[in-house]
Amino acid sequence: MEKFKLWIDGKWAASKGGGKMAIENPATGKPIAEVVDASREDVDRAVKAAHTAFYDGRWSRLTPAERSLAIWRLGDLLEKRAEDFAKAEAENTGKPYKFVALGADLPFMIDNLRFFSAAARDTHGNATGEYAKGFTSMYRREPVGVVGQIAPWNYPLMMAIWKIGPALAAGCTIVLKPAPTTPITSLMLAELIKEAGIPDGVVNVISGGNETGQALVEHPLIRMVSLTGSTGTGKKIMKTAADTLKRVHLELGGKAPFIVFDDADVEVVAAAATLASTFNTGQDCTAATRIYVQKAQEKKVREAIVESMKAVKIGDPFADDVVMGPLISGVQRDRVQGFIDRARAGGAKILTGGKAIQGAGYYFEPTVISGIKQTDEVIQSEIFGPVLTVSTFKDTAEAIQLGNDVQYGLAASLWTRDIGRAMQVARELEFGTVWINDHIPLASETPHGGFKQSGFGKDLSAEAVSDYRVTKHVMVKNT
Ligand code: NAD
Repeated sequence: MEKFKLWIDGKWAASKGGGKMAIENPATGKPIAEVVDASREDVDRAVKAAHTAFYDGRWSRLTPAERSLAIWRLGDLLEKRAEDFAKAEAENTGKPYKFVALGADLPFMIDNLRFFSAAARDTHGNATGEYAKGFTSMYRREPVGVVGQIAPWNYPLMMAIWKIGPALAAGCTIVLKPAPTTPITSLMLAELIKEAGIPDGVVNVISGGNETGQALVEHPLIRMVSLTGSTGTGKKIMKTAADTLKRVHLELGGKAPFIVFDDADVEVVAAAATLASTFNTGQDCTAATRIYVQKAQEKKVREAIVESMKAVKIGDPFADDVVMGPLISGVQRDRVQGFIDRARAGGAKILTGGKAIQGAGYYFEPTVISGIKQTDEVIQSEIFGPVLTVSTFKDTAEAIQLGNDVQYGLAASLWTRDIGRAMQVARELEFGTVWINDHIPLASETPHGGFKQSGFGKDLSAEAVSDYRVTKHVMVKNT
């Protein structure tokens, strides 16, 4: 069983006063590695390494071209090692190796790094000019400084890349804390970062639990905290960050509506709803969760979705034809089961699925629920499992009202052939991403982030790099 230390200042470092955490494979429930549960002292050492690296300019004072080249090299190295990283990720998360880890996640992250490499050289900004008589004003886009980055378990390596990519492009230095259950690929990435020529101390990776994260957020030398995680954790972090007035960048939970108008193609909709709710075992903040179907189409769409959910191939993440693996942990499996049991007790109909699959690992059946009210927990709360609800609406106004009627605002989709209606609904939906006739795809250039209690700040796109910069105004007296 592999044992990992902490990655501080460009080398493996033993913990001072930290504990140990066993990391398991959710497909078997067996331990696969041991990592450190970093102490406050460990956090302090990592932050000080990042602080020194920031202020001596070894990264922040490089030219954009130099930073860009190192980020590009990191993308190349990840491409060379894609199979190793995908294997480690699949073992640690239960993601299907071929369909998700190697087939989808790795190629996207490599492209993300190449995008951030290019974005490091972007010169767009405000124009220098004489805005006050006798003075010339210039704008400098400075890196924010040392950033604390905290990741979730659903896409461990991808979230690490979405965090470090824009921060590195901007010239920041970093302490990254992966989720307690899924630190392996982030720790592996640390060595690749060094190999890519990114100087020691620029990226530090410390494994640990929520208290490690808390220590990072409290640390006075951290200028900004970026979290991808639940809305509850986002609120806690924002409160803690207020004491030292840190910037916060929060990518939080979601509860995406999937709105089907009566002119949509039933088979296409059923296949897309299935993929968008079972990809990554539904543990995706943009996953389709709430299906709303225009009344005339309800029976057809509901039956097609149930058939399609029944056909999802579940099993060993390393089997070639498997498209859905287990949930991340026993805790998550019990949490998903709890939502379904409470819905059933409240009178909901479970049309398919609804139970954990017996045997080793934390597998759960793809589930479709109907007969629920808009105020029910399964509509309002994030379940984070392969679970769809099916409800109806009568007209466009009601579709918009129901779609928006949750605390979250991360992603939504609508399905219609009527372009005018599509544009109207897209405008009215309060979500950071609205898909028309699809659900799930993103590109490195497109901003990803929430409205409402899904948080604020963007991952991906040039906007993400901007979030890690701060503008300085330099004013010169001309005479
Ligand atoms: P979580 O909120 O439990 O944990 C996320 C991270 O925060 C972990 O590393 C955890 O150790 C850390 N943490 C917890 N408490 C902390 C504290 N008080 N101070 C500092 N750090 C703390 O979330 P999770 O269960 O790992 O991930 C699932 C959640 O992430 C879901 O809600 C999902 O929607 C969300 N998510 C959002 C996006 C997005 O882009 N918006 C993407 C992926 C996942």
